[in-house]
Amino acid sequence: MAAPSQTQKATYDVIVIGAGIQGSFTAYHLAKCHRNTLLLEQFLLPHSRGSSHGQSRIIRSAYPQEYYSRMMPDSFRLWQQLEAETGTTLYRQTGLVMLGPAGDPGLEAYRRSLGDGQILDAAALAQRFPGFRLQAGEVAVLDSTAGVLFADRALRAVQEVFRRHGGTLRDGEKVLRIEPGATVTVTTTAGVYRAPRLIITAGAWTGAFVEPLGLRLPLQPLRIDVCYWREKQPGSAGMGSVSPCFLTLGLSQAPHGIYGLPSLEYPGLMKVCHHHGSPTDPEKRDQVLSGVPRPDIALLSSFISSYLPGLEPQPAVMETCLYTNTPDEDFILDRHPKFCNIVIGAGFSGHGFKLAPVVGKLLCELSLGEEPSHNMAPFAITRFPGVLGAAQ
Ligand SMILES: Cc1cc2nc3c(=O)[nH]c(=O)nc-3n(C[C@H](O)[C@H](O)[C@H](O)COP(=O)(O)OP(=O)(O)OC[C@H]3O[C@@H](n4cnc5c(N)ncnc54)[C@H](O)[C@@H]3O)c2cc1C
Repeated sequence: MAAPSQTQKATYDVIVIGAGIQGSFTAYHLAKCHRNTLLLEQFLLPHSRGSSHGQSRIIRSAYPQEYYSRMMPDSFRLWQQLEAETGTTLYRQTGLVMLGPAGDPGLEAYRRSLGDGQILDAAALAQRFPGFRLQAGEVAVLDSTAGVLFADRALRAVQEVFRRHGGTLRDGEKVLRIEPGATVTVTTTAGVYRAPRLIITAGAWTGAFVEPLGLRLPLQPLRIDVCYWREKQPGSAGMGSVSPCFLTLGLSQAPHGIYGLPSLEYPGLMKVCHHHGSPTDPEKRDQVLSGVPRPDIALLSSFISSYLPGLEPQPAVMETCLYTNTPDEDFILDRHPKFCNIVIGAGFSGHGFKLAPVVGKLLCELSLGEEPSHNMAPFAITRFPGVLGAAQ
């Protein structure tokens, strides 16, 4: 980090704002394409105030939308490449079970994405994964490719390779102003930088960031309660660190879904969260909310009593994280409609980590004017009406 008194001035091929997993993978691909790249982060790294911190994220092949499931082989391959480049293990295969009513259209869509995803009835599930209890009329679909990504370690690894390829990462340096033009000027708390290309991957801060650039993106930051649950009997079969990941579909009591994974953060605990949260401002998400009801916790406690009876029904540890949701929960990966040398990657809606290697590649391709390797239509900014309302 530069001393605040020093004013840095420099010119780069590309500037990337935000060193979460998306900005870091974008910068990684750019540096590997021999572009002189500056990656700017407002907080000192590592930090836990965005969306990419923690030890664990689910990765799976199953996706109901074909445009994501087609990216997954590419994503698995790129994660393996990063493991090879850094000599670190970034993934543990655990399998994932999707739980829901038999015949639920959402569950069927996930199953179809696996080709012939194996269906387990209550007895087969209990035999294979003894920690889980299905309710009457419910089944599980198994994605055996799925597992847990070691999130913090992955972020460190991708930033390390970025630097190894000549990239510059400046943390503790907040971007204050962006001046568009053929050369974009970026002013931070410590310097002024110029580049012909800019990429904004600022997570929950992106909405406020792009408003002065004439864009009103429908991005909603959500405060997510991240809960860890203790086994009633430590080391009991099928729970804690030996459990598969899971997610629910079509449960009337949890329409947004509940998901869980073996906790790498707290060995022996299981991480089980509601795939939804309350609207927040990223600057205020860690405010103490004394006396405020926590409906997510009540929902999770009730779910755990029924579906994971080997866990204590009260969370042992609670933390917070941020989702940044779009109305359709699809990502935004596009050029600014007016300033084509500014590319935006945002709105990862709580499912972007596993796809970050591909997202980074696509943002790199968009920025360099190359043909994107995947269909970009679902991620266009202009799918939302009125985004250019504030155009300069
Ligand atoms: C609890 C939880 C569980 C999740 N589980 C999964 C999962 O199992 N599988 C999965 O695939 N995904 C999961 N996700 C989603 C995934 O983690 C996110 O989609 C992803 O981390 C988003 O990364 P990002 O880089 O867009 O955002 P961030 O990590 O928030 O990065 C944005 C960065 O921009 C920086 N920034 C903002 N403003 C400025 C500024 N002015 N100047 C400089 N820097 C700035 C921020 O400080 C931040 O570091 C989960 C998310 C949460 C919260």
